Amino acid sequence: MRTPPARPGPRIDLHAHSTASDGTLTPAELVRAAAGAGLDVLAITDHDTTAGWAPALAALPRGLSLVRGAEISCIWAGVTPAVSLHLLAYLFDPDDPALAAELTRMRAGREVRAERIVDLLRADGIEVSWAEVLAGAGGGAVGRPHIAAALIRAGLVATTNEAFGPRWLGERYRIMKEDLDVFRAVELVRAAGGVPVFAHPRASRRGPTVPDELIAALAGAGLAGLEADHEDHSPAERAHVRGLAADLGLLVTGSSDFHGTHKTVRLGAFTTDPQAYERIVAESSGVTGVATG
Ligand code: AMP
Ligand code: ZN
Ligand code: FE
Ligand code: FE
Repeated sequence: MRTPPARPGPRIDLHAHSTASDGTLTPAELVRAAAGAGLDVLAITDHDTTAGWAPALAALPRGLSLVRGAEISCIWAGVTPAVSLHLLAYLFDPDDPALAAELTRMRAGREVRAERIVDLLRADGIEVSWAEVLAGAGGGAVGRPHIAAALIRAGLVATTNEAFGPRWLGERYRIMKEDLDVFRAVELVRAAGGVPVFAHPRASRRGPTVPDELIAALAGAGLAGLEADHEDHSPAERAHVRGLAADLGLLVTGSSDFHGTHKTVRLGAFTTDPQAYERIVAESSGVTGVATG
């Protein structure tokens, strides 16, 4: 006898971007799209900002739970050149002075870096303007996808992915930004009552990744989990991350890292098990909690 299909559990996507950083849907459009995609839980995790939280909350559709988070731009300086990496932080206090000051500093560093990239492009005779890039970011945290969009509008590349190739933002015009030491980031997120999860730790096509020993050291320093299921991980890399998490007692997440039309991935393309989600909520002591529409 065939067993009937299991009743689907809640669908939980813990990593998505809005126009508060380099996504293309506003926070309100993002939560509506999440509900439309059949998600039960969505985390809004814009780069280095919490500016999307209030408008996402105000538009929260009935039945959708919103996890307020951010994706913090970090570096590990244990090798030269330093490796950049992303730390997801969930349910932290957005008014924690130390963490908020670092996020403000990093957003300012993003502007400096993006303007320098535009200067480099212009020095090579490439007609992109800083005013246009800044306008494209619409007041959100400026990122390379906004420069990619300007390159597309200028007809120089066809896709965001092409703009991240070695001829463009991936290498020739690549400039590091003023990111946060990853150990300090873990400490600040925990001190603000948040729960830190290492985003796409094996995403090697974006540049060098960190060794497993560093992840073990971060686990000792307060890291809660690893994002295993992500479009930038191969099946073997996902399995490796799961194994590492099991060895280190870390939780694992899966998420879309949705960016609207700046990427092709869809909301809910990867999801997180309810047990891991519940652990994140239980470990948080941020003032905010999960909001339900
Ligand atoms: P930034 O934070 O300004 O350094 O820009 C990095 C962001 O660009 C990442 O968070 C991704 O959202 C995006 N990105 C990186 N590589 C690619 C790619 N190959 N295609 C599309 N988006 C990318
Ligand atoms: Zn991004
Ligand atoms: Fe990321
Ligand atoms: Fe992301």
